Amino acid sequence: MFTIGCHLSASKGYLAMAKQALELGGNTFQFFTRNPRGGTAKPVDEADVAAFHAFAAQNGIRTILAHAPYTLNACAADERVMEFCLMTMKDDLERMEYTPGQLYNFHPGSHVKQGVEVGIEKIAATLNQILWPEMTTTVLLETMAGKGSEVGATFEELRAIIDRVELPDKLGVCLDTCHVHDGGYDIVNNLDGVLEQFDHSIGLHRLRAIHINDSKNPLAAHKDRHEKIGQGYIGTDAFARIINHPALRDLPFYLETPNELDGYAAEIALLRSLRKE
Ligand code: FE
Ligand code: FE
Ligand code: ZN
Repeated sequence: MFTIGCHLSASKGYLAMAKQALELGGNTFQFFTRNPRGGTAKPVDEADVAAFHAFAAQNGIRTILAHAPYTLNACAADERVMEFCLMTMKDDLERMEYTPGQLYNFHPGSHVKQGVEVGIEKIAATLNQILWPEMTTTVLLETMAGKGSEVGATFEELRAIIDRVELPDKLGVCLDTCHVHDGGYDIVNNLDGVLEQFDHSIGLHRLRAIHINDSKNPLAAHKDRHEKIGQGYIGTDAFARIINHPALRDLPFYLETPNELDGYAAEIALLRSLRKE
């Protein structure tokens, strides 16, 4: 089954997002757990969650992806920034248990001037404080573009974080096509080679979701500027190979392209037309 959706606003709740996903031609969605700048989250509405579960079961929505606020930094030098990150992620993960067995994606962090090794150690330490054995959510490290001092722009850095986590079974990776292309991985001309590298460094069993975005910049630009599908440096043909690749085709795909809802609907239709059954 082709699992495809886009980023949606969470302001009207889970049921509203599920309905909107279907209206756009999708069968999954991504949402921010709270204001992306990291404010307090609304209390979970249990009636909404129950209605969502019934609707999702009836309509074939199996996987959803929550995205942590992108301003969190799990390897900040400042103690208070770290404390805020820990509190927010722990709270998000507790709330995720209302929708058991789903995915929670976060940006590993920016080491600023501490160096990448310190960044890796701190991100792992953060994860070691917020994961617990009974949790049902899989926490995904997102592949980053390598803008500024971002940690996680190479597969080796992601592997180094995972290796330092005491509950690695709770972890996976979300591959962002724009970010890896920005990071220098040539998914346009050598998709098989990039996936072999991923498998060698991290293990393809850890790959749990794809952010499907074109890029406004050429290979290895380290810029992180998403483009509409087919209008950037990755291009439609490469996306056709990505969504049909045997190692990727059963994963959920999430659009984070610069679009309004009608633009997302058009991109979902385009990707469906490129999908081989
Ligand atoms: Fe992200
Ligand atoms: Fe992304
Ligand atoms: Zn991005």
